Amino acid sequence: MQKTTSIIHSVPVDELTGSISVPIYQTATYVQEAPGVNKGFDYARSNNPTRKILEDIVAKLENGEAGFAFATGLAAIDAVLKLLSAGDEIIAVDDIYGGAYRLFTHIYEKFGIKIHYVDTTNADNIIDYINPKTKLVWIESPTNPTLKVSDIQKISDIAHSQNAWVVVDNTFASPIAQQPLLLGADIIIHSGTKYLGGHSDLVAGLVVVKTKELAEKIKFIQNASGGILGPQDCWLLIRGIETITLRVERQCKTALKVAEFLQECEEVADVYYPGLTSHLNHEIAKKQQNGLYGGVVSFSLKDDTETAAIEFVTSTKYFKLAESLGGVKSLICHPAQMTHKSVPREKRLQSGVVDSLIRLSCGIEEAEDLIGDLKNVFQNISKFETIV
Ligand SMILES: *Cc1c(COP(=O)(O)O)cnc(C)c1O
Repeated sequence: MQKTTSIIHSVPVDELTGSISVPIYQTATYVQEAPGVNKGFDYARSNNPTRKILEDIVAKLENGEAGFAFATGLAAIDAVLKLLSAGDEIIAVDDIYGGAYRLFTHIYEKFGIKIHYVDTTNADNIIDYINPKTKLVWIESPTNPTLKVSDIQKISDIAHSQNAWVVVDNTFASPIAQQPLLLGADIIIHSGTKYLGGHSDLVAGLVVVKTKELAEKIKFIQNASGGILGPQDCWLLIRGIETITLRVERQCKTALKVAEFLQECEEVADVYYPGLTSHLNHEIAKKQQNGLYGGVVSFSLKDDTETAAIEFVTSTKYFKLAESLGGVKSLICHPAQMTHKSVPREKRLQSGVVDSLIRLSCGIEEAEDLIGDLKNVFQNISKFETIV
């Protein structure tokens, strides 16, 4: 069965009524025949039929043993961190998502977890830090916003030699472009807010695990900590997932065209897109990403100032100025002033987030309209320069 067919038909028809859309079980509890005698559901934090269907769909989508739905991507990340005990260590990709960095550093370090931030684009860098206390190796690939790519297979081999689990935040690639469990990873995180939902109309998080052992542990944590996704949002997420192949394939194709266009622009300094042969990690991306390189493109301006970037991001017509990514409508953002505002300038520059860096999330509009939108801005900016 082809991927799209398999996704569409992993959404079950309701056995009770034949409803082709998944029913929303808006309930807090379930009536029991006798204490402990029930239909597999006893309380809605522990389990909910709408959520169960979403979790099964996502597990299948990522080739995992089980999936778990949480209120946000960060709640999903938080649940995985609860696998650790004081004294354990994490090796994490150095330009990790800012929210994950905040959670690791400001909450979990307080509880005695040690985190080493490492440039994982060279897998061998992990060897210097890995030791018997290392419980997790945490990577994002591609990363935000400079789209660095790490070799998941090679990292998994190194991590497993020390019995550490490999966690891949697969939000930027989406399950359509990359299947980390098949490359050796043990746990996948998604911010369902992005490509899985795909319509910028909900926040959600998911964990998918490879083994029964991990499934039991995460199930316990999900119930014990309680950061679950409600049934209405589970339904909305299922509805989004049904069209994920169409959306992501189109978004990736468009992003490649946009990246190629930007590469030819006089006003542009650097373009970051793993699909470009000029990208530093293009070979690894080509090996592990199904020929799809994601819908996000970043670029910097030759006029490397915040003023120039702000003028740019406030002048586009179709690319709307907002945080987030992965939705059907194209978005534009200025990381230095938005997603990376809390990162000190020195540290931000080190990870390539220069003052003029601009991040685009390509939606499903026609590529030529999006490129036309960018072209217009470049023309207007140069006009402005000649006037002054
Ligand atoms: C957005 C995002 C998250 C956090 O997800 P929320 O749903 O916003 O909590 C985590 N990782 C990555 C890579 C993201 O882009």
